[in-house]
Amino acid sequence: MQIGLFRDYQLNRIVVAYNSGSYSIYADTSNFGSILPNEFIDVSLEGKKIRLKVGVIDKGLFNKITLIQNNLGSSITLDPKSNKAIKSRKYEDNIELTPSKDGITIVNLVDIDNYLSGVVESEGGGGQLLEYYKVQALISRTYALKYVGKHAKEGFSLCDGVHCQAYHSMLRFTPLIREAVRSTSGSVLIDQNNQLIDAYFHANCGGQTIEPDYVWNSSVPYLSSFVDTFCIYTKQAKWEKRIPKVDWENYFVKQFNYPIQDSVWKDKLYNFTQDIRKAFFQSPALGIPLRDIRIKFGLKSTFFSTYLDSNFVVLEGRGYGHGVGLCQEGAMKMARLGYDYKQIAKFYFSGAQVIDLPEKDFFEQLARKGLFKM
Ligand SMILES: [Zn+2]
Ligand SMILES: [Zn+2]
Repeated sequence: MQIGLFRDYQLNRIVVAYNSGSYSIYADTSNFGSILPNEFIDVSLEGKKIRLKVGVIDKGLFNKITLIQNNLGSSITLDPKSNKAIKSRKYEDNIELTPSKDGITIVNLVDIDNYLSGVVESEGGGGQLLEYYKVQALISRTYALKYVGKHAKEGFSLCDGVHCQAYHSMLRFTPLIREAVRSTSGSVLIDQNNQLIDAYFHANCGGQTIEPDYVWNSSVPYLSSFVDTFCIYTKQAKWEKRIPKVDWENYFVKQFNYPIQDSVWKDKLYNFTQDIRKAFFQSPALGIPLRDIRIKFGLKSTFFSTYLDSNFVVLEGRGYGHGVGLCQEGAMKMARLGYDYKQIAKFYFSGAQVIDLPEKDFFEQLARKGLFKM
């Protein structure tokens, strides 16, 4: 896989230091030895080229710098010096640095299982059970294969942000995450037409998942709304937010021409009940999508009811995230109750199937998209 790193930032200078194993340094056609313990290289953008310093020794300007591991399992630390707000991160396998008009482009040429281990750690966190990590690996592999060409124009296959999948590999992942990735190697989710599915997930559905067309105006046959009782007693199952009454009123009147002059509708403005998920505030006839309200007031979810408390409208909400597809806290609970990853996947993606794609087919798919040489 070719993963673009630090894509949420513009980087003009980066220091690459030893972490484990060793790396050979190539700049255009020259070889500048290896990065060994306590050593580093310093790469900075200068016009249309990048300057390489090995330690403090200037080696000149180049079009491309490649760091190739001398033995499998090596890893290095990338420390973006031009942006102090970003912490350094550790990566496995090989690294390529090239200049671009938006800063230095850094690509991690990484084995798919190593990449997925980093994604599962970034998206799923620590301290979970093996079957949960397996289902997260299954989803992340399905996504990676489906969208592998997304950033082809920029010179890599996927980025490391939430735009694709978070991959802030710090190599903290437990052996359990690696085992989850390895033991599901080749497993993906497909729909009835044998196509890879859009394996959406979110933190907590609040007890009911939501139809994708409530969120993105497009329906997906293998995703429907259903009741999920696995997540209702978990961390992010409930939330509350108080919004000044005047802000609440102004938003609906100005944005949607809400009929506030009508006493019945006025009363309804403060009292909205959602026992099961709805797509619209009060009545669909008013055309006020809950997703717009969520964005406007920065709400954790669209699954909320309201009541008035003096000068405030109180929102009592459930869940966290868009609510489509797999509910992470529900899946974690299912794993603790003894369900295996295929059962968990089946529960959240009832119209999809888990298949084991032989490794050969997997790489043929990549090759067809021109992203892997057979
Ligand atoms: Zn992306
Ligand atoms: Zn849930």
